[in-house]
Amino acid sequence: MSEPIDIATPRRTREILEKYDLNVKKSLGQNFIIDTNILKNIVAAGDVDEETTVIEIGPGIGALTEQIAKSAKEVFAFEIDDRLLPVLDETLSDYSNVTIFHQDILEVDFEKFQTEYLKESSRIVVIANLPYYITTPIIMHLLSSSLPVETMVLMMQKEVASRLEAQPSTKAYGSLSIAIQYYTEVEIAFTVPKTVFMPQPNVESAVIRLNVRETPAVQVKDETLLAKIVRASFVQRRKTIWNNLRRALDNKEQEETLRAAFASADIDPSRRGESLTIQEFGALADALVAFELTDFT
Ligand code: SAM
Repeated sequence: MSEPIDIATPRRTREILEKYDLNVKKSLGQNFIIDTNILKNIVAAGDVDEETTVIEIGPGIGALTEQIAKSAKEVFAFEIDDRLLPVLDETLSDYSNVTIFHQDILEVDFEKFQTEYLKESSRIVVIANLPYYITTPIIMHLLSSSLPVETMVLMMQKEVASRLEAQPSTKAYGSLSIAIQYYTEVEIAFTVPKTVFMPQPNVESAVIRLNVRETPAVQVKDETLLAKIVRASFVQRRKTIWNNLRRALDNKEQEETLRAAFASADIDPSRRGESLTIQEFGALADALVAFELTDFT
């Protein structure tokens, strides 16, 4: 018998969509990959081997899932669109190491999932061709969960990938760069042309690798405060960090204390937020805690 044809070919993808009378839902970010080489490169970027448990978001018709299943110990994939469940049943029937859950990834209780399914897992990797309309919420949901994920290999809009890896004093650097780099080391693995998708998206794509840090990039006394001041510092990018934080201060009578916190953290208040490293934001957050100035909106 001849080898079955990979799902990620234009012909097989078209056949599957026709057989199940599926019209692609743009609202769910459905752009299916039709190039097996790209998928193999994604799996390789996750160093997936027979010891690796993979969590996949949005298996679609199973193209990436299939390539992961060939190398991984097991794959747990979460798909929101119920129309795709019978499709996946058929396309992945040869792979006994795949489990599909019909669930919105943002609704998954990872603590429960970990206890029920990941007890035997020695290495956990997340791999996905993400639905682009919720890239950031998905990454933050995973990073703030208790899941012991080692690496995430994620396809996303190229412009978002640039923001995630951006360094201080660049146009793309902002609160998103800091939020992600707080938890992970970011590498852009490779860029991906529109032509490998069916249907083609309007934007260019990139695959990034997030290596989850054992401890956050900076240790602070109050993580919530750090997040608040980072967000506030970028509200008006062209203004100084002083102006942005002064505006965000609940009690305007505390401006002098704010000035003292800047001095104590050795940060010039006339700088722009975009010039500060995570470590400098961390030092400022700790100085604010020391001066008991934590009420920012
Ligand atoms: N993995 C397939 C591929 O690479 O060809 C499909 C990727 S497609 C870009 C994104 C997939 O995510 C779609 O199958 C879509 O239905 C699914 N999806 C969208 N929102 C989701 C959510 N909140 N939770 C789980 N899956 C979701």
